[in-house]
Parts: sequence; structure tokens; C-alpha cells
Amino acid sequence: MTEAYWFKEAIAAAGPLVTEQPAGRITADICIVGGGYLGLWTAIRLKQADPTLNIVIVEKNVCGSGASGRNGGFVTSYWVQYFSLLGLAGAEAAAWIGGRSAEAVRELGQFCAEHGIDCDYRHDGWLWTATSRHQIGAWNGLLAELARHGLKPFEAMDPAEVVRRSGTDRNLAGVYQADAATIQPAKLALGLRRVALRLGVKIYEQSAMLRLKRGKRPIVHCRGGSIEAAKLIIAMNAWATRLPELRRLVAVVSSDVIATAPLVGHLPAGCFGDGIAICDSRMFLNYWRNATDGRFVFGRALGHFAFAGRVDDNYEGPSPRAREVEAAWRGLYPMLGDVPVVTSWTGPIDRSMDGLPFFGHLGGHPAILYGLGFSGHGVGPPTMMGGRILAALARGTNDEWSRCALVRERVEPFPVEPFRYLGAIAVREALRRKERLEDSGQRPDWLTRRLAGLAPSGYVPKEAT
Ligand SMILES: Cc1cc2nc3c(=O)[nH]c(=O)nc-3n(C[C@H](O)[C@H](O)[C@H](O)COP(=O)(O)OP(=O)(O)OC[C@H]3O[C@@H](n4cnc5c(N)ncnc54)[C@H](O)[C@@H]3O)c2cc1C
Repeated sequence: MTEAYWFKEAIAAAGPLVTEQPAGRITADICIVGGGYLGLWTAIRLKQADPTLNIVIVEKNVCGSGASGRNGGFVTSYWVQYFSLLGLAGAEAAAWIGGRSAEAVRELGQFCAEHGIDCDYRHDGWLWTATSRHQIGAWNGLLAELARHGLKPFEAMDPAEVVRRSGTDRNLAGVYQADAATIQPAKLALGLRRVALRLGVKIYEQSAMLRLKRGKRPIVHCRGGSIEAAKLIIAMNAWATRLPELRRLVAVVSSDVIATAPLVGHLPAGCFGDGIAICDSRMFLNYWRNATDGRFVFGRALGHFAFAGRVDDNYEGPSPRAREVEAAWRGLYPMLGDVPVVTSWTGPIDRSMDGLPFFGHLGGHPAILYGLGFSGHGVGPPTMMGGRILAALARGTNDEWSRCALVRERVEPFPVEPFRYLGAIAVREALRRKERLEDSGQRPDWLTRRLAGLAPSGYVPKEAT
């Protein structure tokens, strides 16, 4: 079970949750496996479109206990992935997806207000910074490409303002995107659970799918019972790699997070005091924000690789890499030397080759759908839009969502094992070396750069690193 303080806090605030398990053979119009943001948004969109649908969610633990209840809470648009979108679908579709995702950032705030979800939504923007000289201007290529297409979602920010907003002069430069927010992720997940229940979605928790029978009417087998449905939707995130059809389509890596005791008067007034989301420009991404109770929450991406996509328990409990994460944080905020780190956690990221999610039919099966590959970027717009896409596909509607470029039956797979694992380790070590050298102002050698260049796209575009 996750150690994420977000999740513990949200569960405590929600009070005792009543969970149900399936018994005997149950039938449904639509069964969704996985009660994270994707599964919950899909269920909500389906019910909103057709309240008569009989929808069941099957969740192995409690809704929100996966990545959705333990992430950094950055709500950002797709603009940062514009290069990948352009490569996938061309300028028109890329602009459409980017624009809809920016709208979704605002829509999330409205949705939470309308449905009484108090998830500490703060629409204070995203600051993309450079924490080494090498990273300065990492965004230039992306901003130039966006500008070439008449798009200007980022604003230049004066370095002094970057320091003021972030509270540290280790941020040497940066650009700002106004259409971004932060949330308390587990409060959002449990809030969506409440909305889904209110709409009449049946949720079975502590009910892992143990076996899936593919067929005209797929059947999900759990311990005490099974659900037969006209349509089945796989919304299992990294755990979907247990399905052979999806195993090679993502690489499972960890993201690791620490949280401090609340800061009291440690930074000058006005510094880092709002809900701004901040990350730097490395592949071993440092990302950070504050929480509304004053804690510093700091994460670092790209840690543990899962051999053959086996998630097991490697992504539960406290982070085994907490010291490394803490060292990165202390390096950026040396003035907070006396602030203790009080907790850490880890979680799996379903990283796709191009950093974009994909939606389709499992092995081409018409009754089984899936969404996967959020690549550390699934809070807010991507899973909100994913919910609309899967709802449209499940209902068989022909609209902008079912025709969206992210619906793709073929995506580039990772190599077979053991080559994927060995390759991933070699690339990870090269990235470590590259970023260590760049941090100390040295230029990495050719081989290091070539190997590091093989890394799949991350939160910030590959072109930027
Ligand atoms: C540490 C960390 C930090 C992150 N930070 C950010 C961030 O700041 N911003 C951002 O945009 N993204 C971030 N992400 C990514 C983001 O959290 C995910 O992309 C998003 O939550 C994906 O939602 P999901 O519903 O697909 O997955 P999940 O929330 O993981 O949902 C999948 C669900 O499936 C369930 N499940 C698995 N197997 C079974 C089974 N056999 N039977 C039934 N149920 C099953 C799981 O228990 C889980 O609840 C982060 C991720 C991590 C781990």
C-alpha cells in the first residue's frame, strides 16, 4: 500500500469508506478495471452521457490508491508535448489537443467547485526552469516551434522573478505557463469516486481482476465473483503490463517523492507561497510545489525500472531512493537546512515511447478498450480527455473524441526482454552521468550523449534536454 501522505490525509478526511466486493455472476453494460483518474473520469463521462448505463468499476485496492492518489499534483496541459503531438498527428491536431488540454485545466477547477470536491485546486501556473547552466534555454526549441504555428502558451520570465516565485537562486532561468494548477491528488481521486457513486456507478473495491476472459462479452474474474459486460475498459496504468498485448507498449519506471514538515517563515514573504508547480529541464526531472499545509513536496522521476513490466510491490511503501531525492532538494534549497523530511513514497509511471498516451482495442478486440502511456503526465487534462475518449469509443459515437489522434491501435513498442531492461539500465546510467557532468559545467562525452539520447520522451520534451 502507498505511503503517500496525500493518500493518508485524504482517506482520514473522507472517514471510513464502505467497500463492496462482487459475489456470483454480475452483468453490466460497461465494466472498468482500475479506479484511478482514468477509470473514474470514464465512468463519470459515460453516466453523464447516458444515465441509464449500468457501469461497474473493479478496483484491486481502494479508488485512488494507485498513481492517482500519490502523484505530484501538477495539472498541466499538453503544450509541453507539442513536438510529440506534431510528430504524431500534424499541426492542426496538435493545436487542437493542446488547446483542449489547456481548457481542461480550467474545467477541472470548475468541475471540482460544482461537485463539491475540495482538492486544494490552485490555478497559479507552471514554472519550467533551468537548474544548471546547461539547461538554460532548454525550452527555446519548443517555444520557437509553437510560435511558428502561431501559438504562445508560454511567457518569458525575468530570472529575478523566477527566483522570487520559486524561492531559490538555484533556478537560473525559466519560462512560465499560466494554464496550469496544482491539486492534492488523493483528494481529487476520492472526490471523483464520490461523484461516480452519486451518479450510480457501482464500485467494487478490494476486488482485483485475477483473470480476464476475452470474448464477445468479456468477463472479469475476481475472488468472490465475476462481471460480464458488453464493453470492458482497462484503466490499470502500469499494472496493465500484466496483459501480454500491452506489456511492450510502456516501460514502467518509478517516480519518487519526499515531503517535509511545514515550513514556517523559512523563505521571504511572497517567495514560493502560492500553488505554483515548478520543475527543471532534466530527464531525471526534479519537480516541486508546496502543499496548502505549508509542506514542501519534491519529486524526482526515472528511478526503478520494472523487468518485463512486473510491477509487484516495487512501487509501494516508502521510497528506497528517498536519500537521493532529498539530496537533490537540499541542493536546490540549501537555506532550508533545518527543515526535516518527514515522509517519502514511490509509484509507477507508464512511460510510452513518445511520451503520449494511447487508446485503443486490446489486441484489436472490439469489446475491450484501454488507455495507457500517460508517462508521468496524467493528472487533469490527459485523463480527463482520456475519459471522454474512452466513453466515446465505448458508446460507439463518432465524434471529435473517438477520432482524436491519441486513439491509435499501433504504437511503437519497447524492445523485448532482456534487451528492454538492459537497454533501460544503460540509458539510465548514461543519463545520470550526463546530468552529473552538466551540473558541474562539463560536457559529456559522445557515447554518453548518444546513449542518453535514446531515452523515451519525458515530462519535458526530449528536444529540451
Ligand atoms: C510519484 C508520482 C508522481 C506523479 N506526478 C505527476 C504530476 O505531478 N502530474 C501529472 O500529470 N502526473 C503525475 N504522475 C502520473 C499520474 O499520477 C498518472 O498518470 C495518473 O494518475 C494515471 O491515472 P490512472 O487512472 O491511469 O492510473 P492509477 O491511478 O494508477 O489507476 C490504476 C488503478 O488500477 C488498479 N488496478 C491495478 N491492477 C488491477 C487489477 N488487477 N484489478 C483491479 N484494479 C487494478 C490500481 O490499484 C489503480 O488504482 C505521477 C505519478 C507518480 C507515481
